[in-house]
Amino acid sequence: MANQKCFLYARKSTEPDDKQVMSIPAQLVELREFARKENLEILSEFQESKSAKTPGREQFAEMITRIEAGEASGILAWHPDRLARNSIDGGRVIYAVDTQKVTSLRFPTFWFEPTPQGLFMLQVAFGQSKYYSDSLTQNVKRGMRAKLRRGEWLTRAPFGYVNNPKTRNIEPHPVHSKIIVRAFKEYAKGTHGLVSLSHFLHEHGVSTKKGTPLGKASIKRLLTNRAYLGFTKHYDEWFEGSFAPIITPKLFEAVQKVLASKARPRRMKAKHDFPFTNLFRCGECGSMFTAQWATGKCGGKYRYYRCTKKKGKCAQGYLREEALVAEIKERFQTISLCDEDTDYMLKRVEEFEQGENHSSQSRVQNLSSKLKASEEKLDKLVSVYLDGDIPKSVYIKKKDELMRESLALKEKRKDFEHLGNNWVEPLREWILDTKQANFLSSSADFHEISSFVKKVGTNPTVRDKSARFGAPVPSEFVAERRALGKVLNCDPNDTELKTHSPASPGSG
Ligand SMILES: [Zn+2]
Repeated sequence: MANQKCFLYARKSTEPDDKQVMSIPAQLVELREFARKENLEILSEFQESKSAKTPGREQFAEMITRIEAGEASGILAWHPDRLARNSIDGGRVIYAVDTQKVTSLRFPTFWFEPTPQGLFMLQVAFGQSKYYSDSLTQNVKRGMRAKLRRGEWLTRAPFGYVNNPKTRNIEPHPVHSKIIVRAFKEYAKGTHGLVSLSHFLHEHGVSTKKGTPLGKASIKRLLTNRAYLGFTKHYDEWFEGSFAPIITPKLFEAVQKVLASKARPRRMKAKHDFPFTNLFRCGECGSMFTAQWATGKCGGKYRYYRCTKKKGKCAQGYLREEALVAEIKERFQTISLCDEDTDYMLKRVEEFEQGENHSSQSRVQNLSSKLKASEEKLDKLVSVYLDGDIPKSVYIKKKDELMRESLALKEKRKDFEHLGNNWVEPLREWILDTKQANFLSSSADFHEISSFVKKVGTNPTVRDKSARFGAPVPSEFVAERRALGKVLNCDPNDTELKTHSPASPGSG
C-alpha cells in the first residue's frame, strides 16, 4: 500500500482552555510516531502558536492553499481543534474534504471518516461545545493511559540499547549494555570520575558524533538515565517500560549517591595536589607518608613523598612520585588478568549463580504484597493527576519516588529469590577489579591509581624507596566483602611485591 502524502499541523495557543493540550514539540513527536505507524508520509510540517478561535493564521492559510493546489491530500493533527476553532477555517477544511482535495484527515485522538456523519462530527469538533470539550479531555486521558500501559520506547534508543522495529521497542544491545553496566559500576566504586569515565567509554566506542569523548554533562545524563532501569520517557515524565532494564536499582541508586556527593560544593581545595597522601605508611617507623614539592638539579619541580617523622628519628629518605607510581603499576600488573581470563571467569560466575538458586518463599510473598500496594498507590496517583487534582510538578516528583520504590522492592524480592548467591557478586567484582588493575597499569591518572590502591590494597607501606601493598586473593576478597566492611589482612608473603627503585631525590 502506497504511503498517503499529508501535511502535519501542530498548534499551541495561550487560550486558557487549551492548557490540557500538549506543547508543539510534544505534538510533533506524537504525530511523527503516529505517521510512522499509520504509513503516512509527511511532506511538510506546519507549526503555529496562535489561537484558532479567529481566522487569519498564516501557517494554516499556507497549508490550505498548498492543499488546494493539490500538493498533498491529507492533514495530520493531534485533534480537530488544533486545526480550527472558528467556522471560517473549519469551513475551509470541510470544503476541502467535500471537494476531495482532502481525502484523509487523521488525528491520534479523533476518528474521522468522510461520511455525512463524520463531517457532522468534525463540524462539532471545530466548534466549541461543552460536550466536545469534555470528550476531548477523555481522549487525552485515554491516550496517556494507553502510553502508560504500553511502556514502549518511542524515540532513538539510548546507548546500551538497540531499536527493534518489529516490536517498536528497544532491547539491550549484547555488547553495549555491558559497557553501560561497567561504567555504572566503575563510577559507583569511585575508581572513575566523570572525565576518566568519559575516556573509558570513549575507548569502548561511546563518543560524540565527532568521535571525541563525551563531555561531563553527557556523562552525567548517562549516569542518571532511568532508561537503564527499564523506564520509558514521555517528555519530562517516566513510565514503566516494557523493555528489559540494564542496571539494577541497587547499582543505579549507588551511582546517584556518588553523583549527589560530588555535586555538593567541595571544601576549599588544598593548594597542593598530592594524589598519594594519606595512603602509604612508613615501612620503618609506621608514620604516615606525606608529600611535598622539591626542586631538582635542573630547576624542575617534582613531587616527593616522605615519612612524617623528623630527621634523625627515622632513617627513611624521599621517594619521587614517578618512582612511586612505577612501583604501584608494577604491582598492578601482578594482580591483573588478561581479558580472556576475566571473560572466562565471569562466565563461570554466571554458571555458579544459576546453580545456586534458593528461594525464601514467605519473604518473597511479603515483598510481593508490599509491591502490590506500591503499584496501587501509583495507579491512584495517575488518576488523581489526570483528574486535575494535583499539579504536574507534584505528580512527577511523587511518581518518580513511587516508581523507584517499586523497583527497589522488586529488586529485593529478586535478591530473596536468589538467597544463595551472596558471594557471587563480590567474586564478580573481584574479577572486574583485576581487569581494572590491568587498565590502570597503563593509566596516567594518578588520582584514579591512588583511589584504586585505597580500594583493593591492604597495608600500603614505603620502605627503602620501594612501595608495597597487599592485594586480596579471590577467596579472601569474597570473604571480606561478605563480612561487610570487616577488614581482613591477607598473607603478605603470598601477595606482596617488593621492587627497588634507583631514583632518589638528590639525583633527580
Ligand atoms: Zn618513618
